[in-house]
Amino acid sequence: MARYKGALCRLCRREGIKLFLKGDRCYTDKCALERRPYPPGQHGQRRVKITEYSLLLREKQKLKRIYGLLETQFRHYFDKAEKGKGITGEKLLILLERRLDNVVYRMGFANSRNQARQLVRHGHIMVNDKKVDIPSYLVNVGDVIKVRDKSRNILFIKEAMEAVARRGIPTWLEVSKEKFEGKVRTLPTRDQIDIPVKEQPIVEFYSK
Ligand code: SF4
Repeated sequence: MARYKGALCRLCRREGIKLFLKGDRCYTDKCALERRPYPPGQHGQRRVKITEYSLLLREKQKLKRIYGLLETQFRHYFDKAEKGKGITGEKLLILLERRLDNVVYRMGFANSRNQARQLVRHGHIMVNDKKVDIPSYLVNVGDVIKVRDKSRNILFIKEAMEAVARRGIPTWLEVSKEKFEGKVRTLPTRDQIDIPVKEQPIVEFYSK
């Protein structure tokens, strides 16, 4: 599946908020947004007119970038969230949060969603004792996510597990550090999804 291959810090600078795309670096004074808190590019420091459309667009872009998705993939989640009962914006966030790469990140086996996606792709992760190498796999209640035995010496997994205390593990997941595994206790609710994005403008964006 295609993915964005450009500079990640540019995305935070474009959105004007930290999207935490680079793991440890995001918590240090090397963070590009702290050094250059204005949009990237030659005209980054120019005043731009803020329109209603641009506000909706920016919320959509933020969410898409946090989960590392391209437009077609993101639209696919939105279409799925629109179907059936429930609040579309909330269902969209819950679907994104259930992605295996996100869950690996949330459990603390990786320092960023990008790193988690790489772990999954390279076959280091098992779900219910079977290797799953599809980052978009949607986890369900009761699923057990585990780092494969032979992958447990990978340095960055150990470092990530040390660093996870800084951001905390959401209550809908439980993790056993000693066993290198975690379980999905429940599906997340909106208030358990800690991301700096308002979902309603995204629904409005696609409804226009
Ligand atoms: Fe964003 Fe992290 Fe880069 Fe800072 S270091 S700009 S938070 S990706």
